[in-house]
Amino acid sequence: METRLIDNFGRQITYLRLAVTDRCNLRCQYCMPAHGIDIVDRKELLTYKEMYRITRILSELGVNKVRLTGGEPFVRKDFVSFLESLSFNDKLEEINITTNGALISSHIEKLESLNIKNINLSIDSLNEENFNTITRRKVFKEVYNTLEKLEKSSLNLKLNVVVQSGINTHEINDFIELTKSKKLSVRFIEEMPFNGIGLRKTKENWNLNRILDKIKSQYKDIIVLENVISSTSKNFKIDGYLGSFGIIPAFTRTICNDCNRIRITATGLFKNCLFDDGVFNIRDFIRDGASDDQIKQLFIDTIKKKPKNGFIAEANRKEVTESMSTIGG
Ligand code: SAM
Ligand code: SF4
Repeated sequence: METRLIDNFGRQITYLRLAVTDRCNLRCQYCMPAHGIDIVDRKELLTYKEMYRITRILSELGVNKVRLTGGEPFVRKDFVSFLESLSFNDKLEEINITTNGALISSHIEKLESLNIKNINLSIDSLNEENFNTITRRKVFKEVYNTLEKLEKSSLNLKLNVVVQSGINTHEINDFIELTKSKKLSVRFIEEMPFNGIGLRKTKENWNLNRILDKIKSQYKDIIVLENVISSTSKNFKIDGYLGSFGIIPAFTRTICNDCNRIRITATGLFKNCLFDDGVFNIRDFIRDGASDDQIKQLFIDTIKKKPKNGFIAEANRKEVTESMSTIGG
């Protein structure tokens, strides 16, 4: 049996993004409607045991990095214990987490002890009022406090900033200024239509070039950093600044050529691409008694169908209306 996951374009899959829940404590405007999304029944969620098994099987097929996301991963009971069990899998070189940071300040030391590598903290505004409007919850102080604690920790801190036309575009350079004295990387993400409704109507189109132009209008000493293979972002820093910044062309999709990622949603839906609508449900196979070898073969065969890029994946599906919270960002 083939022991690696290689698609028909020669791309090897080494990175799993696993959503541990579809629940969230915030209601970010670009992610879900104010009343939230229709969450699934608890028994439809993958159990930790199932997630552990899926991750182990994938790690035997060459996946060496996993990112835990959601919904908000820390909303799920016993998430930190799950991280601890994952950390025993020595085939995993990196365990990373994406979080909104509202619930994690008391867990930071534990995360350090588990050698969590990258923590991506979502923070779309440095202004309390604006932040609270975007997230529809009053948690700015807690999240900013977590940012400061994480910056002083051994974890590698990245800030996720979804660039929202007319909402936080005037703050782009405030985020750049944060990199002057803080050891972190700000990553500006193009907004995608995954908000439970579809693409939001905006006056301006804030893509990678426009975001970079905005930064260039204020900063002249921008250094282009060398591209890490399969990185989702184009990376830069301001000469003399401690931190760095990147732009993720999530919507314009110029990064698909060396994609190394797959996704599994909280209910076990396997996605070859962020923009596809799911290929099969691994939970059902597991609950029907599939063996490790059968599951491996399923992954190997399915990866072969990975679409060349996100545009092709999108063209082959129904209209995009799901929330990023169910997909797992
Ligand atoms: N709740 C966690 C958080 O917010 O970090 C993890 C899940 S969230 C779905 C993962 C990432 O997806 C976050 O950085 C969030 O900002 C981003 N995201 C959500 N909806 C998005 C959208 N419509 N366009 C671009 N990024 C989005
Ligand atoms: Fe929750 Fe993250 Fe979506 Fe915001 S972006 S609503 S924090 S899942």
